[in-house]
Amino acid sequence: MSAKITIGLHTSTQKALHIRDSGNGLACGCTCFGCKEPLIANQGKKKDWHFSHHSDSDCSGGLETALHKLAKEIIVESESMVFPKYEKLNYRNSTSEKPLKSFRPDVSAELEDGVQIYFEIFHRHKNTERKNTFYKTSKLKSVEIDMSGCPLNSRDSIKNFVLNVPKNKSIIYWEDELNTISKTSYKIDFKLISVLVLGLIALVSVIVNFTKSKKNKFIN
Ligand SMILES: [Zn+2]
Repeated sequence: MSAKITIGLHTSTQKALHIRDSGNGLACGCTCFGCKEPLIANQGKKKDWHFSHHSDSDCSGGLETALHKLAKEIIVESESMVFPKYEKLNYRNSTSEKPLKSFRPDVSAELEDGVQIYFEIFHRHKNTERKNTFYKTSKLKSVEIDMSGCPLNSRDSIKNFVLNVPKNKSIIYWEDELNTISKTSYKIDFKLISVLVLGLIALVSVIVNFTKSKKNKFIN
């Protein structure tokens, strides 16, 4: 049996709406992402809250489309994300489906240093190789987010999965290997220099104390 439908398309706002945030019954005002038919919100006490089709249907609710849409909305509404290797980074001016050459990145945004970043969301079906090659050869900072394994029980749990979990993300392109290496060696050099400086300070203070104590002995 397929997973229960927990996300519908709210007709008046055209946004993805989680069953936890919707009205009851037909008042939810949602249609199905899969077949576009009206949905009924079932918010009873016994069963887990879920949407069902108003008419008889064997449609499974278009979970993939629904999650894709909701993930895009979450990224656009937010301003930071935890990336693998790069931890939490802030971004701004995000838009979804903005044309870029012959592609439409799921979400385009700008990092704090003004560099553009692109987000691609997938659920089972990975990004096309052509798109990934485009990001790599154009040297555009880009990241893929895998929505499979996303908990579906609330909008917050989905939001947390999209923004705060690094293991479901992989970098398509970030920067050239060379840059990474030179940055790391710069870090090591900096560490080495600070260790040397601290050592020197310690040595000088030992010498000063030693001379002082010698002087004191002499006076006594
Ligand atoms: Zn449907």
